[in-house]
Amino acid sequence: MNRRTKIVATIGPASDDETTLRAMIREGMDVARLGLAHNTIDEGLERFHRIRAVAHDEGRRVGILVDLPGPKVRAGNFGETGVDVPTGSSVELRVGEDGSTSDVIEVDYDQLLRDIQVGDRLTIGDGGAILEITDKQIDKMLANVVHGSTLRGRPGVHVPSERLQIPTPTPEDFLALDAFVEAGVDMVAVSFVRSAHDMRRVGTEPHPRGPLLIAKIETLAAVENLPGIIEASGAVMVARGDLGNECSLEDLPHLQKDIIRQCIAGGRPVITATQMLESMITSPAPTRAEASDVANAVFDGSSAVMLSGETAIGSDPINVVRTMSRIACRADEEMDYEAWASKLAALRMTDGGAEPASVTDAMTMAAWRATAELGIKNVICISGSGFTVRSMARFRPEANILGFSTNEATVQQLTLSWGTMPMLMSTGGSNEEMVAEALKLAKGAGLVRAGELVGVLAGSDSRARATNVLRVESVP
Ligand code: PEP
Repeated sequence: MNRRTKIVATIGPASDDETTLRAMIREGMDVARLGLAHNTIDEGLERFHRIRAVAHDEGRRVGILVDLPGPKVRAGNFGETGVDVPTGSSVELRVGEDGSTSDVIEVDYDQLLRDIQVGDRLTIGDGGAILEITDKQIDKMLANVVHGSTLRGRPGVHVPSERLQIPTPTPEDFLALDAFVEAGVDMVAVSFVRSAHDMRRVGTEPHPRGPLLIAKIETLAAVENLPGIIEASGAVMVARGDLGNECSLEDLPHLQKDIIRQCIAGGRPVITATQMLESMITSPAPTRAEASDVANAVFDGSSAVMLSGETAIGSDPINVVRTMSRIACRADEEMDYEAWASKLAALRMTDGGAEPASVTDAMTMAAWRATAELGIKNVICISGSGFTVRSMARFRPEANILGFSTNEATVQQLTLSWGTMPMLMSTGGSNEEMVAEALKLAKGAGLVRAGELVGVLAGSDSRARATNVLRVESVP
C-alpha cells in the first residue's frame, strides 16, 4: 500500500544541497518547508529555486511552503556550544540582540519592559528554560530560573500571546510574502495567528491564484477563535512547539485532537508539527514514544506530519524522512477507513452551507459510498481550485484520490492533501472530454489499468460552479 499521510520537511543547512534534497524527495518528502527566522529573503529564495529545480529534475511534484516567522521574539546569541542556565539561579533580562550569558539574557523585543509584568513566565527554547519575572527596573527585569536548561544559538523567547502587542503578519513578514508570492510559492504559513482577522490581513489573492494560506495554531487565542480561523484559511498547522508553551502540557494532546477534528470537518488539510522525531537530530533511530507519536497523529486524522530541526539541522535528514515515511505508511495501513468515514458523515460541515459547497459535499460523500461498496481502488477528482479533492480527502477513502486540475497552482497545492496524487491535465471543455483525458493520463502514469473500475467526480463542464457529476467508469 502506498503512503496516504503526507510528509512536510523543513529545509535548513543540513538539507539544502542538491544531493540531499534529491534523496529526501526520493524518500518521500511531499512538501518542503522554508523557515525564514534564521535566513534572509534572498537566501530563502535561493533555496526555493533549488528545490523547484531538483523536484523538476526528479519528475516529482513537491510543494513549497514558506513559513513567515511572525512576531517571534528571540534571545541574544548563547553561542553554539551552549550556556548552562541552572534551575534556581537568578538572571537579568535586557532589551538587545548581541549576546546572552548565564547571568544576562538579551531579548530582541523593544517593548519587553512595558509589556511583561512581574509574575509572568517566559519560556526560552521549545520547552527549554522557564523564567519567572520577580522584579522590574528602569532598564532591566530580574527573573528566577524555575526550570533550567542548556541554551544554544538564538532560541525563541515565548512571551504569553495576550501580552504580545506586535500584530501578525509583521512588516518583515509582508516583505517576505511579496517576494515569495512573486516567485510563485505554493503555500504560506502564518505564525502566531490570534483571529480570523489576522489571516485576512495577509491579503493575498484567494487560492489557487494566491498561495494556500496555512494558519499556525500556536496561541490560546487561536484555539478560542478556531472556527473563524479555519474558515479564513486554506489549511492549518498544529504548531505544538509554541502551543505547548501557552497551554499546560497535559492539555496539548487533546488540543491536537480537537484542532484536527475541526479542520477535517471543515475540509481543510491539517499538519501536525514539531518534535515528531526530535531525537533523530542526533540519533539514527527515533524513540519508541516518537514512533507512537507519528502513528497517533495519523490516527487523529492529520493530513500531513512535519519535520523541523530533524531535517533542517539534523545529522541525517534523509534517514529521518525515510523513517517517518515507514511509520506513517504502517499507520495508514492500520487506519479504520470505514469507521472514519462514518464518523465524518456525521461531523462534516460545508462552508456556511452555500450552494456550490453543499453540492460538492454531498457528491463527495456519494463518491466515498460508491467506491467503498464497489471496492474501487482509484477515484479521479477533477477540480478547478482543489476544493473537490480536499472535500473527498476528508472521508479518508480507501481508494487512492487522483486529484486532477488544469491549474498548475492547484496541482502544487494538492501536494499537502491526504491520500492525493496531484495530476495536471490540459483539457477544460465538456465532462466527457475531461473524463477521457483524466483516464488517459492516469493509465499512462500506470495508476489505473484497462478494465478496472474507477470513480470519477467532476463538474458537468469546466465552467460548472460545483462538482455535480459522479460516474463509475471502466478504464478503456
Ligand atoms: C511550532 O511552534 O510548533 C512551529 C511549528 O513553529 P516554529 O517552528 O516556526 O517555531
